[in-house]
Amino acid sequence: MTKAWSILPDEWKPILAERGMRPFRADQILQSLYRDYITDWDQATTLPRDFRERLKAEFPMTSTETKAVSESADGTKKLLLAFDDGNAVETVLIPAKGRFTQCISTQVGCAMGCAFCASGAHGVVRSLAADEIVAQYMAGRRLGEVTNIVVMGMGEPFANYDETLRALKLINAGRGPNLGARHITISTCGVVPGFARLAAEGIQFELSVSLHAPDDELRSQLMPVNRKWPIDELLAACAGYTRATKRVITFEYTVIKGVNDSRECAEKLARQVRRVPMAKVNLIPLSPVSHRPDFKTPDESTMLMFLDVLMKHHVQTMLRRSRGKDADAACGQLRLRTPG
Ligand code: SAH
Repeated sequence: MTKAWSILPDEWKPILAERGMRPFRADQILQSLYRDYITDWDQATTLPRDFRERLKAEFPMTSTETKAVSESADGTKKLLLAFDDGNAVETVLIPAKGRFTQCISTQVGCAMGCAFCASGAHGVVRSLAADEIVAQYMAGRRLGEVTNIVVMGMGEPFANYDETLRALKLINAGRGPNLGARHITISTCGVVPGFARLAAEGIQFELSVSLHAPDDELRSQLMPVNRKWPIDELLAACAGYTRATKRVITFEYTVIKGVNDSRECAEKLARQVRRVPMAKVNLIPLSPVSHRPDFKTPDESTMLMFLDVLMKHHVQTMLRRSRGKDADAACGQLRLRTPG
């Protein structure tokens, strides 16, 4: 069984033909899926009933159940979506002026085990299929017109490369939802083989890299992935990516009080980042997570010191405010939960 939301718009014709169905139905199907945004084949009333039955059997729609909604005072909404097997992921909708950004998950839990992140505190249960990633977007767009997607929810996208890319290509497709590639950001903790693969796709998705420490000793403590792909290898992959694609890479640096927040860290960070052409930095204050009460949010003055040091080294830097904290919807606060 191929799920309807895992089929790229251009694949419908050949798939129908392969199964002895008339190819012209592809256009009707695409209109139902991506103009009318049906969630059930029964809603595709332009199609004959017996054909709908066949579609139901051969290309099922993905159903999700919204198990919980939490809303933050700043308007950020977090949805807990459960799939048929009972597993659930979180997706976050973040309104901002002129934008409605959706943060989506690629795995149930996460295997990467970054010390400061709630998503990995209990390991990974399974990866999501493309249609389950698309289903999050479909649930999001029912709450408003999603203008941007950030793949910064639970899971490591490059550890679920094929399904993630299929979902993003579908969302980006002209005959699909048609969300611009430059409005879609993939974030990785540094799974090196993903960089060359993404560069070879020739699609202009945005790429962010979670760095969080300027040297191997500290980064390996905070992010086990660094033991497999240390900073030199990671930065070489980043430089390869920017050279091949002429696209910017944004390094995410979550500042943790007393851990990676010294002036020396900032100086080292600037030097590391400058090894990559067209690199930018986003500085994010740590969001508190319950499994690590020892990790604290830095003071504003520390954030400004970091900004100052990076600017002096001519590194383009943004200070990011965490959104949705009071709904546990901020960066690093998404976690495994059993719905019920
Ligand atoms: N696995 C991918 C996608 C998750 S993105 C990645 O690591 O990039 C989520 C972002 O939030 C990452 O940059 C992550 O490092 C960051 N993050 C995780 N825990 C955080 C916390 N407690 N406070 C602030 N940012 C956090």
